[in-house]
Amino acid sequence: MRLILLGPPGAGKGTQAQHLVQRHGIVQLSTGDMLRAAVKAGTPVGLKAKDIMASGGLVPDEVVVGIIADRIEEADAKNGFILDGFPRTVPQAQALDKLLKSKGLALDAVLELRVNEGALLRRVETRIAEMKARGEAVRADDTPEVLSQRLANYRAQTEPLVDYYGEKRKLATIDGMKSIDEVTADIKRVLDALSESAAKPTKARRKPAAKKAKAKKAAKAASAGRSAKKAKTAKKAVKKAAKKAVKKTAKKAAPKRGAAKKAKKSAKPAAKKAKTAARKGSVKRTRKGAKASSRPAKKVTKKRAKSARRLTKRG
Ligand code: AMP
Repeated sequence: MRLILLGPPGAGKGTQAQHLVQRHGIVQLSTGDMLRAAVKAGTPVGLKAKDIMASGGLVPDEVVVGIIADRIEEADAKNGFILDGFPRTVPQAQALDKLLKSKGLALDAVLELRVNEGALLRRVETRIAEMKARGEAVRADDTPEVLSQRLANYRAQTEPLVDYYGEKRKLATIDGMKSIDEVTADIKRVLDALSESAAKPTKARRKPAAKKAKAKKAAKAASAGRSAKKAKTAKKAVKKAAKKAVKKTAKKAAPKRGAAKKAKKSAKPAAKKAKTAARKGSVKRTRKGAKASSRPAKKVTKKRAKSARRLTKRG
């Protein structure tokens, strides 16, 4: 299991990390502890970090990233680890992502202990008083003044990690104002839920999604088929309508043909009327028909003119 404990100084990260070490058999990797050890040993890193730490500032990213990169390579970290106090900035988080990716590892969860700053100051003051009463050495940065500086650093540089891991869906926020045991129980609940969901067979979890995708595909195909069918039907309807329109026009023209027939029996003006009517017909067939029936009408007109002349001669 690979976890990150996120929270301002004095939130109880160290205490909860100890519980997790015992329960899960993983190591606690605290950059603060490592840096303090380096300061004590007087290593180059320790010399670099000493004054920064005493003032409540942050040690440069590359220094802490280097420490963590070396530490997670060690044998005791192979089973998993809890990062306490690291990452503290977004570039540190990005460097950690790269580091884990290069090793084919992934984070299981980021546990944020959310606390109230006023209560935090009172907690630290109580802790300092208790340590002094027991005759223990108090950390150089465990003073109310330096704590205020560390809190300001947390707000400005570390709190953006809440969003960073929230977006990656790795974050679980726990109320750090509860008693130590209650916080421990809350963390246990979060981690139990996480391992339960991880234990579920992947196939079973994937199946509904795969089924859904299949159904979607099928629906799409069916709808495509439907639209093709629709298009075909629409095409047919258009053809039918066009045929109907032709017939109608032809029918409309037919009485005109009738008019032409009438004109056969009547005089010139009727034939002329029929001819015009035939010309007006939009369909060829109609026009032809009108022409054909208008010819005898012409003959009739000539005949009548002849008999009229004859009548005139007789008269
Ligand atoms: P901590 O014990 O986690 O509160 O850390 C004590 C001090 O060590 C901090 O105030 C910083 O000066 C330094 N430190 C610890 N971890 C980091 C980190 N990840 N990045 C920068 N500085 C750190």
